[in-house]
Amino acid sequence: MKEIILIKNGELALKGLNRGSFEGALMKNLKRRMKGVMPCEITKSQSTIRIEPTEENPDMDAAVEEVRKVFGIAAFSRAAVATKNMQDILRTAEEYLGPELDMVDTFKVESKRADKTFPLNSPEISRELGGYLLKRHPNLSVDVHNPDMVVNVEVRQQGAYVHGNQLRGAGGLPVGTSGKAAILISGGIDSPVAAYTMAKRGLILTGIHFASPPYTSARAEQKVTELMYEVAEYAGNMKFFIVPFTEIQEHIKDDCPEEFFTIIMRRMMMRVASRIAEENDCGALITGESLGQVASQTLDAIRCTDAVSDLPVLRPLIGSDKIDIIDTSREIGTFDTSIEPYEDCCTVFTPKHPKLHPSMERIEQAEAKMDYEPMIDRCVENVKFVFVRRGEM
Ligand code: ATP
Ligand code: MG
Repeated sequence: MKEIILIKNGELALKGLNRGSFEGALMKNLKRRMKGVMPCEITKSQSTIRIEPTEENPDMDAAVEEVRKVFGIAAFSRAAVATKNMQDILRTAEEYLGPELDMVDTFKVESKRADKTFPLNSPEISRELGGYLLKRHPNLSVDVHNPDMVVNVEVRQQGAYVHGNQLRGAGGLPVGTSGKAAILISGGIDSPVAAYTMAKRGLILTGIHFASPPYTSARAEQKVTELMYEVAEYAGNMKFFIVPFTEIQEHIKDDCPEEFFTIIMRRMMMRVASRIAEENDCGALITGESLGQVASQTLDAIRCTDAVSDLPVLRPLIGSDKIDIIDTSREIGTFDTSIEPYEDCCTVFTPKHPKLHPSMERIEQAEAKMDYEPMIDRCVENVKFVFVRRGEM
C-alpha cells in the first residue's frame, strides 16, 4: 500500500504573519531532511504540503521520524493512498486502519471532498465508510463528539487519502526564519536544551565552546561535539567553534581576586563569543543560564556579564526549573551525553566563595590589571572550526 505524509495549513505552527516565507523555509528544510531517507517529491497544493515517495518500498517509518523533528509543524498525518473510487477507499481504510480500530472503542469518520467531480459528497462518504467499518469491527461504536479515533478521508485532485489520528509535530518555527544566533555550549545539561529551544524559534545556530587544555581533555571536547550533533538533529547543520581559553583563564587566576574568577571568566567568554558571533552574522548570543541556579546566575552576575556584550543575550531557560530542563534534555536525546563525566573549563579554578552580588566597579578594576585585548584576539585567531552536518556523527 502506498503511503504519503500530509501537512495541512491548520497544522502549521504559524498562523498569519509572514506565511509565504515561512512555508518556503519549511519546504526547503523538509527537502533537506528527506535526502538520504527516501527519494520523494515535496509539493504544496490546496494549502497542504505533501511528501510523496517516488520509489517502491520507501522507509516511511524513518521519514515520519524525521518529520517529527522539523520545526514549524504542529501536527501531520501519515496517510494511505487510494484511487478515487469508493470501493477502493473502503478497502484501503480497512486494510490500513483495521488493526488500529480493533484496539479502540469509539470512532468517527471525517471526510473532505476537494475534488467536486467525485460522485459522493462528504457526508455520503463518511456514512458509507462508517457503516462499512462498523460491520467489520463489532467492538466499535460511533462517537462524534469525543471519539478514540478519527478516520479521515480526503478526496483531492491528486488522489484519495485515508488516515487515522494526527501525529504530533515538533512545533515552533522553521529553522532559518528568525536569523542567526550563537549558542555558548558547555558539556552540561542546560546549554544543549537552550540551543534546541532557540532553534525551535527559527534561529540558525552557531556553536561556541571554550576549552582549556590541558585542564580540560580532548574527550571533553569530543563530548561537546557529540552534543552539537545531537542538537543538529533538530537545528540542522551548524558551524561550531572551539575556543582555546587556557591563556585567559590562567591570567584570571594569576591577576584577579579569587572571588571574581567565575564572573570575570564569564565576561571574557562573552567578549570572545561576541567577536565570533559578529564575524558570523549572528544577531544574538544564547546561554543555558537559569536564574539563581549557581553563583554566576544571580541578577547582579547576569548584569555584569551582559555589560560586555553589544549583542542581546538570550537565556531561554532563565525561568525553568532544573527538573524541567532535564525532562526536555531526555526528550531531545542529549541527556545521556550531558551526564558523561568530563570536566568543563568552568570547573577549572573555581573559587571556594564566588561573589554572588559582584559590583561592576570592582570587577572592572580587577580586569584592568589584565591586558586582555590581545588575548581575546589570540582566542579568535586560533579558534578550531568544525562543520556539524546533521546525521554525520
Ligand atoms: P550547562 O548545563 O549548560 O553547563 P550550567 O548550569 O552548568 O549550564 P554554567 O556552567 O555556569 O551553568 O554555565 C552557564 C552557561 O554558560 C552555560 O549554559 C553555557 O551557555 C555557558 N558555558 C559554560 N561553560 C561553557 C563553555 N565551556 N563553553 C561555552 N559556553 C559555556
Ligand atoms: Mg556547566
